[in-house]
Amino acid sequence: MASGESSQNYTLFKDCLASILFSSDPPTADPEQSLDEFASYLASEAWPAIPPSLHSITYDSNLTKPIGEIDEYVSTLPLDSLSPSFTETLTSYGQVPDEEGATRLLRKVAVRYLEQATAPPPVWNSTRTKECEICEREVPLTYHHLIPRSTHAKVLKRGWHPESVINKVAWLCRPCHSVVHNVARGEELAQHYHTVDLLLEREDIQRWRKYASKQRFGVKRG
Ligand SMILES: [Zn+2]
Ligand SMILES: [Zn+2]
Repeated sequence: MASGESSQNYTLFKDCLASILFSSDPPTADPEQSLDEFASYLASEAWPAIPPSLHSITYDSNLTKPIGEIDEYVSTLPLDSLSPSFTETLTSYGQVPDEEGATRLLRKVAVRYLEQATAPPPVWNSTRTKECEICEREVPLTYHHLIPRSTHAKVLKRGWHPESVINKVAWLCRPCHSVVHNVARGEELAQHYHTVDLLLEREDIQRWRKYASKQRFGVKRG
């Protein structure tokens, strides 16, 4: 394997290639099963033709700005190191008529890849709820990083979660928030309690929830 083929960007590139092939005529009678192999092979042949500076591009890359209009930028890429087997495979499967067609297809893949690789990360604030996600009271809320920030480097290195969900949050009232941090810490939260549902499966959280949901904010009940 050439360097970089294990990276997230390479996987994204392969997915873009597969999605373009899949939306045209599937190459064989058994598209789902063979598409992965087909796309894997083509992606490994095409990846070296993509300039190395684009192999690790992200939303945060300084390269993003010079790229500007992605379509226009991609149309200027030389792609001169495109492997002949990329073209041969595509033509023999009737996906493109000739070398020019193969290059055109690769540009299409490159546009989709760059659009997705440089897209801003999702805004997790949009998940904001009115009620605490544990006790369901309408009280002032704080956000809890379901995958604690202190664990992010390790989580990505070990592949516990994809980068796209790393910043997800739950909206919790202060008391529920401290309970969560009391029952489990750091890596345990990241590995085993990275959703509200998983947290709610714990007996201690259930007990707490039952209690908290009966407490009315600012109202003492006798
Ligand atoms: Zn709460
Ligand atoms: Zn928290």
